[in-house]
Amino acid sequence: MKKIIILGGGTAGWMCAAAMARFLIPRGIAITLIESDQIGTVGVGEATLPHLRFFNQTLGIDENAFMRATLATYKMGIEFQHWGRIGDAYIHPFGEYGRELDGIPFHHLWLKARQSGRAAPLDDYALPVKAAAAGKFDFPHPNPRSILSTFSYAFHLDAGLYARFLRDFAEQLGVERVEGRVDTIGRDERGHISALKLQDGNSLGADFFVDCSGFRALLLGDTLQTPFLDWSRWLPCDSAVAVPCESNRPPPPYTRAIAHSAGWQWQIPLQHRTGNGLVYARDHLSDDQACQRLMNSLPGPTSTEPRILRFKAGRRKNSWVGNCLAIGLSSGFLEPLESTGIYLIQIAITKFLALWPQGGSYPAGRREFNRQMSLEYERIRDFLILHYHATEREDSAFWRYCRYMTIPDDLRLKMALYREQGYIVGYGHGLFLQPSWLAVYHGQRILPKTYSPQADLLALDEIDRLLSGYRRLVQKGVAAMPDHASVIARQCGMRPLPVPPTAMSLYGGIAL
Ligand SMILES: Cc1cc2nc3c(=O)[nH]c(=O)nc-3n(C[C@H](O)[C@H](O)[C@H](O)COP(=O)(O)OP(=O)(O)OC[C@H]3O[C@@H](n4cnc5c(N)ncnc54)[C@H](O)[C@@H]3O)c2cc1C
Repeated sequence: MKKIIILGGGTAGWMCAAAMARFLIPRGIAITLIESDQIGTVGVGEATLPHLRFFNQTLGIDENAFMRATLATYKMGIEFQHWGRIGDAYIHPFGEYGRELDGIPFHHLWLKARQSGRAAPLDDYALPVKAAAAGKFDFPHPNPRSILSTFSYAFHLDAGLYARFLRDFAEQLGVERVEGRVDTIGRDERGHISALKLQDGNSLGADFFVDCSGFRALLLGDTLQTPFLDWSRWLPCDSAVAVPCESNRPPPPYTRAIAHSAGWQWQIPLQHRTGNGLVYARDHLSDDQACQRLMNSLPGPTSTEPRILRFKAGRRKNSWVGNCLAIGLSSGFLEPLESTGIYLIQIAITKFLALWPQGGSYPAGRREFNRQMSLEYERIRDFLILHYHATEREDSAFWRYCRYMTIPDDLRLKMALYREQGYIVGYGHGLFLQPSWLAVYHGQRILPKTYSPQADLLALDEIDRLLSGYRRLVQKGVAAMPDHASVIARQCGMRPLPVPPTAMSLYGGIAL
């Protein structure tokens, strides 16, 4: 393989170009990216997951420079309002609840104590929940025994500025950028893509093509006709209206996801503004109603017109077909409820580089890539469905549908295991592990009937002592943390502190 062409210069295209510039250009592979200013990018995608820190770190990007360039804030989780019932609120944190003890998951100890009326609310045992709610933030402590090591963090960023930042990075390392609109795709006798022809008549050939053309999926979809697996029966939202607004309040260190009668609304705090969007199902809310609802609930004034985006939940059956790999919206879409879009881009790039066909032949790597990516998509899908299905809301046709819809078998089994005995299923390939499932089950009012018999290895008094001690540690830890806004100011100022290293984990320094 001598040459790769990336079609598309949105977040997916430039993340891919940056990673390939770092890892493939030194191996003698030429990388070209084609994008069209005329078409533009989707322009949303501003809430991220902690894995992005790992991506930046692997590329050698300075985190403080990245914060300044993208006008980013820190993010310790997502606050969900009105999901289980109207009036409910909980935070899904990037961190753990308590600590497991001799192999006994913490929540079983908590459930046992709760049954005897001797437990505080579950959130009192999660430092990132209490810190986020108090508007506090700090870098995780490197000592794994410290209570301040029990969380991780991500960013809220300006998507346009991030793409620009990565473009500079990639071009400096030798990526060639071509401006132009691709209108014809050349194919060879095997059906593989051989060249992309631009509107101006130019034709560019390569050995391998990465389709980052967004919802158009020009290569994987239009050209190679890869079937789309439609998941909208479980995730019925098909539209969003987005608009930024001014913000005069200190930015909270978390994203807000506020449920409404036919979907939900996001609020993403950046340094200079708040990103807002209303996600909705058109069967239940018209575009006009959605726009009006969004504009009436903005946390600050806006001078921009709202923009409507259409989508469908699902993914292409395979993301890698022949010599074409799709990354980003061209390979699938899951709504941004848990900020998973950029993660899916990152994980596709990482898996591709790990399975990269150095010898030029790639059926085995391609098959394994497609298998792993399909697990990633399906597991995120099920986690998202959980938010809609685990509800007691019946105040609209939308919520009645979600509450009573038939869900995927795997998810039904997971929920039954938790309801019956508090068991949380774990897995190897997939993003959301036990702490995340616990956050949503608990936050949306699913309580197990009983706890694991393992918890009976400890007497109630002992559990009580452990829980009280942990709770005090959380309180002390949060009290010692600085305000979120002051950390941003320090890290974007003249004397930033060094940033701690990270791992590819949602919850803390050590991958679970
Ligand atoms: C409403 C909404 C909210 C979202 N929120 C989040 C979030 O909070 N967090 C998150 O992680 N993700 C989020 N996402 C997902 C995220 O926005 C995307 O994953 C990300 O922006 C990647 O988009 P992309 O690069 O695949 O596509 P795009 O941004 O659409 O880029 C496509 C590129 O292809 C180029 N192109 C297309 N056709 C041609 C052609 N014929 N010739 C030349 N160039 C062409 C375009 O010019 C453009 O450069 C959200 C998505 C939506 C729809």
